[in-house]
Amino acid sequence: MPKKKQKVPFYSPGVKFECTGCGACCKLGGGFVYPSLEDVGFAARHLDMSVKEFTDTYMDKHEREYVFKNDGDNCIFYGENGCTIYEARPTQCRTYPFWKANLKSKYRWKITEEECEGIGQGKHFSFVEIEAIKNQTSQTPAGPSPEELKVQK
Ligand code: SF4
Ligand code: SF4
Repeated sequence: MPKKKQKVPFYSPGVKFECTGCGACCKLGGGFVYPSLEDVGFAARHLDMSVKEFTDTYMDKHEREYVFKNDGDNCIFYGENGCTIYEARPTQCRTYPFWKANLKSKYRWKITEEECEGIGQGKHFSFVEIEAIKNQTSQTPAGPSPEELKVQK
């Protein structure tokens, strides 16, 4: 049987990206951040708090998932000068914009480019680097495809 031809991802030549610190991604989807247990541990340690203190103070439940609190728009850690726990920000934040959901198709990436002004600037990330970032855990779920949402292209 002939081998099925593998689709070449649109980002195989690599992508330029450098964060400008604009903060737009801290407001995406109402600012919901879904940290892993490890992320919570890092952030708590960064703030010199116990995990219990940290979760009582900064975490909420949204649709049965634990999230960082937000004010209905921004993540609770978003301050005047950007992220106040930048060095200990969760995987979801560290891996943006190279999320599986964003890299799923060229169309999804185009939407991401509109959200993130850092795409197309600065460092060139190779395909291998992007794959490594993409495959880190605790990112947001892939979500429905544009076809399912019946979005006009
Ligand atoms: S939207 Fe992009 S450029 Fe702006 S803070 Fe987020 S990652 Fe950085
Ligand atoms: S933890 Fe920091 S980087 Fe992540 S959404 Fe909140 S403010 Fe933004």
